[in-house]
Amino acid sequence: MIIILLGAPGSGKGTQSKRLADRYGYQHLATGDIFRAEIAKKTTLGLKAQDYVKNGKLVPDAIVTEMVAGRIDAKGKFLLDGFPRNLEQAQALDSMLKKDGVTVSLVCLLALDSAEAIRRMSARRICSQCGAVYNAATAPPAKDGVCDACGGAVVQREDDTEATAKKRLMVFDDLTQPLVAYYRGEQIFEEVDANQAPEKVEAALAAFIEAVGAKS
Ligand code: ADP
Repeated sequence: MIIILLGAPGSGKGTQSKRLADRYGYQHLATGDIFRAEIAKKTTLGLKAQDYVKNGKLVPDAIVTEMVAGRIDAKGKFLLDGFPRNLEQAQALDSMLKKDGVTVSLVCLLALDSAEAIRRMSARRICSQCGAVYNAATAPPAKDGVCDACGGAVVQREDDTEATAKKRLMVFDDLTQPLVAYYRGEQIFEEVDANQAPEKVEAALAAFIEAVGAKS
């Protein structure tokens, strides 16, 4: 079972994927998290990706698809968060899965307007060790700058500054929206209003996942 979560930066893909992956036994494959971890460890992949990530640009497709191909198992249960991000990546994913006779089970769009996306990205803080996500205004860690889960340092992502956040939204509009249009006409496509409280978004997504599970 392969599920894709689509949505603008700040729409809650990461938060929701973590919750749903735990709840339904999916592996959470978050390309942004992988790049941040590889950049922190200064691996070859991290060095290749770092300038793109820092500047809010997409990492070149060949690098991303090779990375995903090495981590995905078409016969497993995967929740994809941040991939595919353009039409080329979607086609690459389809051909990876096709070898095993598998197709994508569900594509969910977390729909959010740009002004709210910018507000959320500016307030977002993450743990530099475990990736836990906080919001400086609405959901800060109990102790300022310290992760509740692992005690790591809670920081602002380098690409969450206002100028880079705006650039990432432009990249989303230019490259990812055509992908939304591509999936929108298909039966596997569902849309959730991401302006709602996280629990409501989760409930809506859970209903779609359960419906797909029931069909398989
Ligand atoms: P968000 O969805 O909030 O923008 P992510 O954590 O998913 O953040 O991604 C952060 C950055 O990692 C992107 O701006 C981009 O540089 C890189 N990245 C992640 N996934 C991909 C992808 N599928 N293709 C290209 N670049 C990617």
